[in-house]
Order: sequence, then structure tokens, then C-alpha cells
Amino acid sequence: MYTVVTGVVIRAVAVRDHDVMITLFTREKGKVGVAVRGARKQHHKYGAIAHVYAYGTFTLRTSGTVYALVHGELVQRWRTLTDDVWLLAYVATLIEQVDQLVADGDVLPVLFDQLIQAMAALDAGCDAAVICSLCTLHMLTYTGFAPSMHACVCCGASDDAAWSVRAGGVVCRACAPKVADAHAIAPSRIRLLRTMVRTPIASIGHIRLSAQTIRWLQRMLWQWLDVHTSMHARARAVLVQLLAIDEQPRGNERS
Ligand SMILES: [Zn+2]
Repeated sequence: MYTVVTGVVIRAVAVRDHDVMITLFTREKGKVGVAVRGARKQHHKYGAIAHVYAYGTFTLRTSGTVYALVHGELVQRWRTLTDDVWLLAYVATLIEQVDQLVADGDVLPVLFDQLIQAMAALDAGCDAAVICSLCTLHMLTYTGFAPSMHACVCCGASDDAAWSVRAGGVVCRACAPKVADAHAIAPSRIRLLRTMVRTPIASIGHIRLSAQTIRWLQRMLWQWLDVHTSMHARARAVLVQLLAIDEQPRGNERS
């Protein structure tokens, strides 16, 4: 029995002499494992599609507990995404999140569309930190880890004076002293989060953010993932190292 899915390769592992075992995040079936026979032979017709981050349509045949690839075609060939060390670090972070936050068996077509829009936006040169933060916020929403943005997480009051990652979102003025990591937050940042959660990634061109806001957003979301999920953030650690190197003062710059 054959089935056709649209998906992106989130893992690719060499097996035996010439084969590759890929894990796809698909629009139709969530995450699936697929064996691609002979993909590591030179000039194999499916060599390009058996690579991590490849986005394509895949015709699969059931083969015991996993699928086997019968036919595959790229939907889009990334222009810069897999050649640039920064873009690779960002896309690897997003893929790692999808891999670990989406449970086996969960079918999330809207999240799939957002991931593909994020990869396309990165490939087109949009601000990588903004795109990844927006995509991360969508991932949290669709996988059940979203922050509470409309009412105090402690008492339900509609007062958004403070923010607590540990408590799970907005905290009112009265409850803030009782929450260990609650801190005052600018109303503009709460409005930003509410806007972002409603914004498809393809429309991100309408949002303009300062470097300071982007940095806050990025770090807050990473802290959120650390507190609320059991992710092993290996790809993100590489990105954090790159960002730290980039932020170091350079010797040839005037102070
Ligand atoms: Zn409260």
C-alpha cells in the first residue's frame, strides 16, 4: 500500500553500506521514519532528498514497522539555508525543537506550514532571530506549552503588569510579589507576544523590532523551553556559542 506525504527531513542517519534512514516531519502523518535504499551510492536519484532539511513530496510503501521510499521529489531547493553557518545554526535549532516537542503520532498540519514558512523566510534572508522566535512561539502554542498572555496565571485577573517564565506567563500586580521570578514587563512586550501568536510567519514583514526586543524575546523563549519542556538543546547550544562570539568586542574596533 502506497501513501504520499509532504514533509521535511528532520534527521538522516547512515545505515548499512549505502542506505539512509530518514525521519520526516510531514503535514499528513506527523513524524515518520523512512528507509531510503541506496541513497548513499554516487549519483543516486534520491541522494538529494535523503538529506536533513530537504523539503519534498515522498511516496512511501509500508515495510514492516517503518516506511520505505518509493519516489521522492524536492518541492523547494533551498538557496542559502544549508550553505551559511548562521542560517544552519538557526534552522538546526528549529528542527531540534520540532523533533523533540512534537510527540510521535501527533499530526499538526498548521505547525508544519509554519515551519516551512520559517525555513523559506530564513532562506530568503529575513531576520533569523525574529523568524526563529516567531516559529518557536507557534511551536509552543501547537504543542501545548504556550505562555498565558491574557490573564494572571495565579488569580485570573486581567492585569498584565509582570511576567514570570516559571509561573507560565502574565502575573498581576497583586500576585507578583508572591512569584519568585516575576518581573515588571513593558505593556508593549505583552502586546508584541499577543500579536506574534496571531501572525503567520509569511506575514512577518509587518513586524519591526529593536535589537534589544529581539534579544529579550529570543532569550525568554529559550528559558521557557528549558523550564517547561525536557528538551536537550544541543543545536541551540551551538547557536548560543556563535552569538556569544559575535557579541565579543573585536580587536580592530574602536571602543
Ligand atoms: Zn493575580
